[in-house]
Amino acid sequence: MRTVVTGGAGFIGSHLTDHLLAMGDEVVVLDDLSTGSLTNLDAASASPAFTFLLGSVLDQAVVREAVRDADRIFHLAAAVGVHRIVDDPLTSLRTNIHGTETVLEAALAERAELLITSTSEIYGKNTADALSEDADMTLGSPLLSRWSYAAAKGLDEAMGHAYWTEFGLPVSIVRLFNTVGPRQTGRYGMVVPNLVGQALRGEPLTVYGDGHQTRCFSYVGDVVPAMVAIQEAPASRCDAFNLGGALEISILDLAARIIDVLGSRSEVVLVPYDQAYGPGYEDMRRRVPDNAKSRALVGFEARTGIDEIIRLVAADQRRRSTAPAPSPVP
Ligand code: UDP
Repeated sequence: MRTVVTGGAGFIGSHLTDHLLAMGDEVVVLDDLSTGSLTNLDAASASPAFTFLLGSVLDQAVVREAVRDADRIFHLAAAVGVHRIVDDPLTSLRTNIHGTETVLEAALAERAELLITSTSEIYGKNTADALSEDADMTLGSPLLSRWSYAAAKGLDEAMGHAYWTEFGLPVSIVRLFNTVGPRQTGRYGMVVPNLVGQALRGEPLTVYGDGHQTRCFSYVGDVVPAMVAIQEAPASRCDAFNLGGALEISILDLAARIIDVLGSRSEVVLVPYDQAYGPGYEDMRRRVPDNAKSRALVGFEARTGIDEIIRLVAADQRRRSTAPAPSPVP
């Protein structure tokens, strides 16, 4: 099986690459290293079945080269992280819209199966008790760049749907809910690596807003095998599947767990949203997945609990802070 992972040097993409190599696939990673890192691919690089291509999903020629003779493509390349989306809305929109279209075109030319990675962000302000895949996309004003990521990802799903409908291209979609774990960087705002890093350094933990907003964090090691199993299930074609954590936790409680689990002496400070993200930011108050569809299709369970996740993320950060400098770009 020849498999392409776009965004394979990123946090989730690199874990997916390791998993596919362990399954015996030949894996080509296409990544522009805008947010990913070659260090994430240190283990993969040791495999003769691994190839790295430096390039953007916006570059048609490099995408065509990457997918030549591919059997399947996992499309993860995207502009991610709230800070990036707010500070750099055009790049975020272009990568998430034109990049996905370029990958869809290349998949069609090659007749390769495609998995599009979407996001729980598309549910927007929908605060249902458990968001099932047919829940509404409830976004805010298009004048707030905060919503551009969700709007673009919704469009990605619609394009995938259209390629299936018009050309019969086998497209499957997963919606990830706050996937966390080793290799995720706090640089673009993600809360778990950010707060774990602060706790390890003895700095105050920055909780944005009132801290009562909730999330369901899922562990990358639970999510990645489910992504592959969903892609391999013929019943996933032209359909979307939630992959999220089992525990709903407020950000204030998350901060308390981090301090407790790591035995940190840090305090918690509340930071107003305006100060954290700039004026006019709207956060999601609540985001709870209904995983029933993924459970029914591939037996997905979010097994790893939040304390274990915190320990694994902290161990990774400690290891990386003592590791040698990252490998140079080839
Ligand atoms: N958050 C926080 N402190 C931080 C980073 C994020 O309180 O240092 C909050 C953020 O405002 C949001 C939640 O944590 O309410 C999850 O943020 P993240 O960026 O990880 O994911 P997303 O907003 O996409 O769910």
